[in-house]
Amino acid sequence: MQTQLADWARDTDVGREADEILRRCVHCGFCLATCPTYQILGDELDSPRGRIYQIKQVLEGAQPTYVTQQHLDRCLTCRNCETTCPSGVEYGKLVDIGRQLVSDRVERPWNQRLLRVVLRRLLMSPAFGTLYRIGRWVRPVLPAMLKAKIAAARPAGPLPDQPGRHARQVLMLANCVQPAMLPSIDFATQRVLDAVGVGTRFAARSGCCGAINFHLDAQEAARDQMRANVDAWLPLLESGQVEAVVVNASGCGGMIKDYAHHLQYDPVYAERAARLMPYVKDIAEFLAPLAADVRAKMRRAPGRCAFHPPCTLQHWQGLRPLTERLLTELGFDLQAFGESHLCCGSAGTYSITQPALSVSLRDRKLQAIQTTLPDTIVSSNVGCICHLQGGTQTPVRHWIETVDEALHG
Ligand code: SF4
Ligand code: SF4
Repeated sequence: MQTQLADWARDTDVGREADEILRRCVHCGFCLATCPTYQILGDELDSPRGRIYQIKQVLEGAQPTYVTQQHLDRCLTCRNCETTCPSGVEYGKLVDIGRQLVSDRVERPWNQRLLRVVLRRLLMSPAFGTLYRIGRWVRPVLPAMLKAKIAAARPAGPLPDQPGRHARQVLMLANCVQPAMLPSIDFATQRVLDAVGVGTRFAARSGCCGAINFHLDAQEAARDQMRANVDAWLPLLESGQVEAVVVNASGCGGMIKDYAHHLQYDPVYAERAARLMPYVKDIAEFLAPLAADVRAKMRRAPGRCAFHPPCTLQHWQGLRPLTERLLTELGFDLQAFGESHLCCGSAGTYSITQPALSVSLRDRKLQAIQTTLPDTIVSSNVGCICHLQGGTQTPVRHWIETVDEALHG
């Protein structure tokens, strides 16, 4: 694609980065076939190629409008288009740049600004856990849309005794929304790791990975969270006190693995973030070399499951084959279903900011999954798990919870 960047963009870091990405696009349109929003809406402007073109126009000096912003908002940032693109267009990086440029130039209506502020404050507030528990108490009387957002409580079980006794130690994420929504996922992760001789710790002064702020028009606040996490984790990793940051929510894992990119123009943290990258592991990556040990300790087989690979696992981190291999090695009877490459519509806070599209994608996903009549639907991201559970009676859980149950149940 030929570009003619505006003067204000030509000599900036992000302008050069965007230009390089844009020039790789050859307009072939292969990405349209795998874009969920194009599949549903059928509008070129809600396709990857259309969004790329709109971002190019902004970089070339056109004034974006509220309509431009809506087309970018409707993108799930699933990056399915990146997996499909034969030219290696890094759409995810481009849409981040495009969204920032547009939000700098277009003021959202007051209700959208308010919703974004409330979501950011609420989800990262220390009171979120309490409010979520209150939501559970009043869940039976809530309207169906809100009810679907609140996962039913499930017992978290005990924590391992003295996890510090193990020679091998890893870090897990602290102050994430996941423990408030489904604490059973972190507890199960700690018990499974404990069973194979790995202790778990949480670093002081670490917090949310930054994804919530980043995707709600607060990219600089997100970068501050990234810097804080780099500061909290790197000394523990480089001094050998822990060997990895193990992440059991692929949305957080995908974001953390992008820290080096998001901080690339920071004179201090670019290099520090790059040093962190080799230590960041999805729970599947960390457990893969220990699969035989885990399997040998299982008291029963995990059973008939449909595995929904979140976009942040398959398209962001490229870990779908590794995870499916691991689950098969662990004895999961995985049921294949159609359109497993498509987003379930969860996409972080997308299910709140774009409820109609989100529910439509969820129902399409569940319809495809239900053809296999699974006993359980397993996944690897808390957002997808809660979102899918809102539309089905079939239990939806993290696969690590199923492994834990097979080990200890
Ligand atoms: S598949 Fe890649 S090169 Fe083709 S239109 Fe989409 S982004 Fe551009
Ligand atoms: S990230 Fe997903 S929703 Fe956005 S353009 Fe690409 S395929 Fe479509």
